[in-house]
Amino acid sequence: MKNDNRKIVLVGTGFVGMSFAYALLNQTACDELVLIDVDTQKAEGEAMDLNHGVAFSASHMKIYAGGYSDCKDADIVAICAGVAQKPGETRIDLLQRNTAVFHSIIAPVVESGFRGIFLIATNPVDIMAHVTQRLSGFPASRVIGTGTTLDSARLRYMLGSYLEVDPRNVHAYVMGEHGDSEFVPWSQAMVGTKPVLTIVEESPQSYSVKDLEEISEDVKNAAQKIIAAKKSTYYGIGMSMVRIVKAVFGDEKSILTVSTLLQGEYGQADVYIGVPCIVSRDGVCGVLEVLLTKKELEKFKLSANLLQDAFGGIRFEQ
Ligand code: NAD
Repeated sequence: MKNDNRKIVLVGTGFVGMSFAYALLNQTACDELVLIDVDTQKAEGEAMDLNHGVAFSASHMKIYAGGYSDCKDADIVAICAGVAQKPGETRIDLLQRNTAVFHSIIAPVVESGFRGIFLIATNPVDIMAHVTQRLSGFPASRVIGTGTTLDSARLRYMLGSYLEVDPRNVHAYVMGEHGDSEFVPWSQAMVGTKPVLTIVEESPQSYSVKDLEEISEDVKNAAQKIIAAKKSTYYGIGMSMVRIVKAVFGDEKSILTVSTLLQGEYGQADVYIGVPCIVSRDGVCGVLEVLLTKKELEKFKLSANLLQDAFGGIRFEQ
């Protein structure tokens, strides 16, 4: 970052993109926001709508619809663009179509001279982050997927309610794919500095391991439940993205379960997957290797293998 102007370019002004934009404005998390969408009219309308709230905001954010040349001096390019799964379409076909969408986005971003950090939210997010890294040729540290950041937030909220403590004092992660093979390493879940499993063991009349397993299932199924009720999910992911942006701009070195490229950590390599990472102004500057049990490591391996297979099935244009 060369100056104090924190600039973000957002590609994809749908539900997720605009929830992110609205949260950015309300949390004064950047100074300049450029909106890009294949539907240019939508991007323009969204910029107008957001600008009409600036008078009531604590922020002096500059917001406008722009083009890929605006990425040149951006600090972050956030991508929430994507196509929806067609009826009968396989996951790998969807991946292939989203890879084509990403091709049309990443190439002009890189051509602009962009030297910042990619933040990817488009699903399947682990694979789309890997696709971005492959297409851009950027160091993996500067291509971040939202990973299981939202899932970990959901877990902390649900565990906080169950144990009746502030979710901010619940330190627990969802790890693995942002999807069906994700899991909660309960051996590493803490309230304050006390292991959740110890709390459960000490109060069998109030808590049980079975309840914990139900909570991890509820976290995993949360998106489907919301989609069944209101067709899509967006506020939670929008706020998760702002959390990551703040960690970058504040050079916080905060630990967030974003999706990053493993290079030997947890016995895995060449796979983008959600793990606790240290996030700073340089992007992902480290992976925190928590001590998983043998069973938890097996779950992690299964999740990593699924992601590797899916990524391996993508055909990249030469
Ligand atoms: P949406 O359909 O509302 O928005 C997608 C936007 O992308 C549209 O405005 C569309 O015009 C735009 N777009 C499509 N192709 C484009 C291209 N080539 N260039 C520029 N823009 C293009 O969808 P949404 O509800 O906002 O969801 C967006 C993505 O976020 C989906 O992939 C969804 O699955 C994902 N998502 C991720 C998480 C997470 O935890 N990572 C959570 C919720 C949703």
